[in-house]
Amino acid sequence: MITTGQIIRCKAAVAWEAGKPLVMEEVEVAPPQKHEVRIKILFTSLCHTDVYFWEAKGQTPLFPRIFGHEAGGIVESVGEGVTDLQPGDHVLPIFTGECGDCPHCHSEESNMCDLLRINTERGGMIHDGESRFSINGKPIHHFLGTSTFSEYTVVHSGQVAKINPEAPLDKVCIVSCGLSTGLGATLTVAKPKKGQSVAVFGLGAVGLGAAEGAKMAGASRIIGVDLNPKRFEEAKKFGVTEFVNPREHDKPVQQVIADMTNGGVDRSVECTGSVQAMIQAFECVHDGWGVAVLVGVPSKDDAFKTHPMNFLNERTLKGTFFGNYKPKTDIPGVVEMYMNKELELEKFITHTVPFSEINKAFDYMLKGESIRCIITMGA
Ligand code: NAD
Ligand code: ZN
Repeated sequence: MITTGQIIRCKAAVAWEAGKPLVMEEVEVAPPQKHEVRIKILFTSLCHTDVYFWEAKGQTPLFPRIFGHEAGGIVESVGEGVTDLQPGDHVLPIFTGECGDCPHCHSEESNMCDLLRINTERGGMIHDGESRFSINGKPIHHFLGTSTFSEYTVVHSGQVAKINPEAPLDKVCIVSCGLSTGLGATLTVAKPKKGQSVAVFGLGAVGLGAAEGAKMAGASRIIGVDLNPKRFEEAKKFGVTEFVNPREHDKPVQQVIADMTNGGVDRSVECTGSVQAMIQAFECVHDGWGVAVLVGVPSKDDAFKTHPMNFLNERTLKGTFFGNYKPKTDIPGVVEMYMNKELELEKFITHTVPFSEINKAFDYMLKGESIRCIITMGA
């Protein structure tokens, strides 16, 4: 059946209100407009960012909305001006984009595209500000320009990474967000040398991705730091060799780590969102060469405080967004790492649910039981 240019009716999990279970609805998905593609989503997974905006604590709530931003699917049709994608392409929609045309996209160092950089407040498409989703004519808001909790979605072509069609979408869908953020923070930003020590603060999906990157880089010691002792056993699978629970020490964590490593770790990656952990992650790196990378998203009023002497003593502090990966240019390469067996994804996937039971994925995450839960569409 040719659906190009037609409205598609399909199932979507709609969030009508903050914090209330998603409701399976039949939605209408309009055809893609200029520079947009319509994607048939096959697998999606749940990330903390979805839960955070669904709970809508501390932000302007935007409902009804279709959440979801980690996913894999197949292009159904493309809008005007899309030349790099065609129906049948296997793709990962990404929450941030690459227009290819702005100073950031032209820079080798940046992935902070001016046009398509993450925007959590936008509920419509960039082209006309309108939503492509509706129920009985009433628009339903988009989320991060991806809205993957729908059997079909419309995404700006600059937010679509075309990947190897051989790659299993039920695994590589997790490359769209959390995993790549942590992996890239280590591999492309902290860049530990073979044999160096790395501390990872926060052992959620992002931190485990960072630990995996440290393992791939050949780190000799990977010290995991987390307040939740339950995280430790799981983290061993991701190369974490030693654990520090700040609550079990009287000394500041920086000091604990310095004592363990003869003056400090070579690299540290902070994946917590806690400003205390950010300061600790910086102050625990070795003077002379240590590099700390911040990944966690802090609270609105947080301020980072450290003595400037820590910088003069040749410690470096960096921050990164989405592991410094450009979505279209670099993400297909992360998928290739998996295809070449350099990167293992299976161990990140702790649960699987059919689309009709998507609310269970929220329960697993809220209880802290899951790293990633894959949601199978059409089931
Ligand atoms: P998560 O909640 O699954 O994991 C965070 C872990 O940090 C938890 O295990 C928690 O116990 C631990 N933690 C909290 N405070 C701590 C402290 N003071 N010391 C030690 N451990 C502490 O979260 P996640 O999905 O892995 O995401 C981690 C962070 O990365 C979040 O802040 C998220 O918003 C951020 N993030 C950033 C980017 C980016 O591009 N920069 C992208 C995605 C996510
Ligand atoms: Zn750009």
